[in-house]
Amino acid sequence: MKLTVLPYGRHEIDQDDIDAVVSALKSDWLTTGPLVNDFEAKIEELVGAPSVVVSSGTAALHCAYSAIGLKPGDEVITPPITFIATQATAALFGAKIRFADVQADTANIDPKKVEELINSKTKAIVAVDYAGHPVDLDELRLIADKHGIYLIEDAAHSIGSSYKGRKVGSIADLTTFSFFPTKNMTTGEGGAVSSLNSELLERVRVFSRQGLVRDPEKFKLDPHGPWHQEVHEFGLNYRLPDILCALGISQISKINKFKLARSEVFNAYSLELAGLENIKLPTLREYVDPMWHLYPIRVPAQHRKHIFEGLRAKEIGVQINYIPANMHPVFDAETNNLENLENSRNFYAEEISLPMMANYKILSADSIAYVSKTVIELVKKL
Ligand SMILES: *Cc1c(COP(=O)(O)O)cnc(C)c1O
Repeated sequence: MKLTVLPYGRHEIDQDDIDAVVSALKSDWLTTGPLVNDFEAKIEELVGAPSVVVSSGTAALHCAYSAIGLKPGDEVITPPITFIATQATAALFGAKIRFADVQADTANIDPKKVEELINSKTKAIVAVDYAGHPVDLDELRLIADKHGIYLIEDAAHSIGSSYKGRKVGSIADLTTFSFFPTKNMTTGEGGAVSSLNSELLERVRVFSRQGLVRDPEKFKLDPHGPWHQEVHEFGLNYRLPDILCALGISQISKINKFKLARSEVFNAYSLELAGLENIKLPTLREYVDPMWHLYPIRVPAQHRKHIFEGLRAKEIGVQINYIPANMHPVFDAETNNLENLENSRNFYAEEISLPMMANYKILSADSIAYVSKTVIELVKKL
């Protein structure tokens, strides 16, 4: 099937990925077998912390909230500029969602705004590395430690990124990843949770495997026999099958190549679109090394829809990331806090994500130049 529209994001699958999946299909395990451990070891190598693989980025967040014992009445502080899974999985534990505004340039949660929302019910700060650019982790860590709360990093965009020389995945109390096809690497559907805190990570593992405790040292009953296992807290089935771990192992072996390809796209757009009136380009802090998931430009809010439609009319599959989570009608008026959150509102009103992927066949230098040229034509006519 041929793509008629240049997509904003797409996976990069080669013959070696296909071969890896086929050989898993011919093996003795389709679901939890030896490839789960192998994939978890590869993730640990990449992110610098032990990891548990799960069936999606959403599952990863649900597991992280379960691990910290999130319960009704607790509050979590989140940014509006994210996919709703960041909030949904916390709200399903009965937690109250609080929204802290983002920084005007990075669209990442603003540590100063976080501090204002902390009270005795606050259980966690949940930060999102928007577009792949890590959040201000040192500032957030200080706040979390000062108040004795957890720092969770939703790194769905940022596997392969680093912050002040430290790998994303080894910094927050719990870091969650997504392997959805548009993300930096894919298993079709999939995700992972990483943590240097072995107790938290064990809680993630047990929750993602039906709550089944199999470690004899933890049994509360006298073991009934060799088949014994027991449940202390309910869990779900969030396992990632061996078939998909095979794809993950193959994909992660190419992560440096993907990172380079994405940074080449980033640099090409940044060069071609530099210095133009009416376009703001993504910010890069000097102490981070992002693996870019998105290339978000900003244009004057009153012209955004026109430019978006103009790009779509030229078969460029631009996207808006995101409708701010607080604007969804699922939140009551007090929570959605529409009067405030000015930076989030402005960012959303201006943002357009240009095509970004590690696929040279689809997003070639020529296609990048075509996108830039089309953007420039539309903006010059304003
Ligand atoms: C993609 C994404 C998720 C959810 O991941 P899935 O694998 O699609 O479930 C969560 N948070 C953010 C910021 C995302 O971009």
